[in-house]
Amino acid sequence: MTSTASPLRLCRYSSTANSYIQTLRKLDEVSSSCILDGLPDIKTLKKLHSKIIFDPCQCNNTSLAIKLMRAYAACGQPNVTRKVFDKIPERNVAVYNVMIRSYMNNKFYKDAIFVYKDMCRRDVSPDNYTFPCVLKTCFGSDNLRVGLQLHCVVGKRGLDADLFIGNCLVAMYGKCGCLVEARQVLNEMPKRDVISWNSMVVGYAQNGRFDDALEVCKEMNVLGHKPNAGTMASLLPAVSNTSVENVLFVRDIFMNMDKKDLVPWNVMIAVYVKNSMPNEAVDLYLQMETCGIEPDVITFASILPACGDLSAASIGRRIHEYVERKGLSPNLSLENALVDMYARCGCLTEARKMFEGMKFRDVVSWTSLISAYGKSGQGRDGVALFSQMLESGLQPDSIAFVSILSACSHAGLLLEGEYYYKLMIDEYKIVPRLEHYACMVDLKGRAGCINEAFDFIKQMPVEANERIWGALLGACRVYNDMDIGLVAADSLFELAPKQSGYYVLLSNIYAKAGKWKDVTTVRSIMKEKGIKKMPGVSNVELNNTVHTFLAGDTSHPQSKEIYEELDILIGKMKEEGYVPEIDSALHDVEEEDKENHLVVHSEKLAIVFAIMNTSHGTPIKITKNLRVCGDCHIAAKLISKITQRLIVVRDTNRYHHFQNGVCSCSDYW
Ligand code: ZN
Ligand code: ZN
Repeated sequence: MTSTASPLRLCRYSSTANSYIQTLRKLDEVSSSCILDGLPDIKTLKKLHSKIIFDPCQCNNTSLAIKLMRAYAACGQPNVTRKVFDKIPERNVAVYNVMIRSYMNNKFYKDAIFVYKDMCRRDVSPDNYTFPCVLKTCFGSDNLRVGLQLHCVVGKRGLDADLFIGNCLVAMYGKCGCLVEARQVLNEMPKRDVISWNSMVVGYAQNGRFDDALEVCKEMNVLGHKPNAGTMASLLPAVSNTSVENVLFVRDIFMNMDKKDLVPWNVMIAVYVKNSMPNEAVDLYLQMETCGIEPDVITFASILPACGDLSAASIGRRIHEYVERKGLSPNLSLENALVDMYARCGCLTEARKMFEGMKFRDVVSWTSLISAYGKSGQGRDGVALFSQMLESGLQPDSIAFVSILSACSHAGLLLEGEYYYKLMIDEYKIVPRLEHYACMVDLKGRAGCINEAFDFIKQMPVEANERIWGALLGACRVYNDMDIGLVAADSLFELAPKQSGYYVLLSNIYAKAGKWKDVTTVRSIMKEKGIKKMPGVSNVELNNTVHTFLAGDTSHPQSKEIYEELDILIGKMKEEGYVPEIDSALHDVEEEDKENHLVVHSEKLAIVFAIMNTSHGTPIKITKNLRVCGDCHIAAKLISKITQRLIVVRDTNRYHHFQNGVCSCSDYW
């Protein structure tokens, strides 16, 4: 490593050094050496160098030459370092080490290895400073071949017990993807420090093996080497979906570490986001703000999707302001993340504005906006955008087609959808994937072409997955097709035996056909297999806090008032002709538990809570983890009319914009 002299110190030093040299008539060794140790700037350095060259007492002084070499390397001038190196008549190991390090630090990896080979040829014996340097060179250039040779030499010289060399070997093998070898070196090291372990963590992380990297963290923790900020930094690029236990483990490390540095926060936020814990991620982000830690682009890349998940538009908006204030844009991926955040929060206007304001747009930018229009049921706008994107000369990719196909399916644009599907295959030579097939089945199913959708599945070159059968089953429920519905349900029970939603859909189909005996059978099968319905959860954001409601929830501090207000609203709704579905003859079994007729679904609680706590006319945004049930859908329509509010509910696969008693989905979802 080079010296970490601060630029400030460098500058202050060089000006005095400069005048110092000018006043010195003859430069003695001590004073030159002193100036060189302070790592002067390039101008001072050159002046000093020329004085040394013309001084017959000093031009053969090796220790001074080494200092000159180091100083040039620190100025990013390894070629000049080389010139000094070449002039030294007696090159010892120290001279070689400096030359190798100069090349290594300036990323001249091939030259570094060349110098190493040259020194071996000239019988200059490498020492325990040489090897870490050359190994780092192999690490930097993924040069496994030389790395293996070095490991051999190190072993022969008995230097493999050296802590630094061992660490470099672990890092080198890890970087080159030889994780077994890296682990073996680590295991055989007689003494290990945090860096040894971190090198192993880096190895796994760089090869995308987050879980294995975490196992190493656990091991080092047990052995008394506490994972530190460096460990966290190593983990960052690999963060992905993992077990709950692992999430808790990372949280433990995070809690017990110095949090002045941004990196641990970034890691923790990313872990939450990648593990579907957006609430925790946003909470942590707010804590981070409170602690006065400045977020960066990496933080935003993680937190913006979480804001999108929770429809936490006001936090997202604040991040947007921060990005503008700090001048972080133009930054394509950051701007795309902002468009996507607004889009998923249901703020179509803001998403559009953000998009329009971008200097450069790529397929990702367009795709975010198209899918936002699609999910809001504004398929026509999605189609218009897609043609605009084609006109702009961009080449749509596989995901862009998913967005347009799903926009067509959500809006019931059968012909347009079929046109784009053909265009994708014929014009853009994109081989359809399961996502595209799912969109097509959904498109045909929603349009009521159940048989056609079923035929489509039968002629697919790949096995249909859960989403595809699920789309077909959903369509069968809407169009009361029991025969095909049964086939779809059978396949689904095989593919996802524990997924309660499909049993519920099937029993809905039976219920609509009045087959109550079959409804009962499905229910008892569910009981037998121990299949539990997933609890419904609704989120609503208010003053930068996300409030979460469960069905029948009484844990909220305003719970009492919420239920009272809901009662009043239900009274008004009944005047408008509302008949709660739970009272009707049709026991429509829904995804949420209705066995207890008193249980109020989470979205109703969230809607009432939002109405109570916002001023008249403020739009209300709810995010729900399950499909909205029929009863809540009717209720939301009526509430939007009675209270004159726009209510946006995002459920598992679409947005419902309730306004003046109607929903954007045209009651098809
Ligand atoms: Zn409901
Ligand atoms: Zn709707």
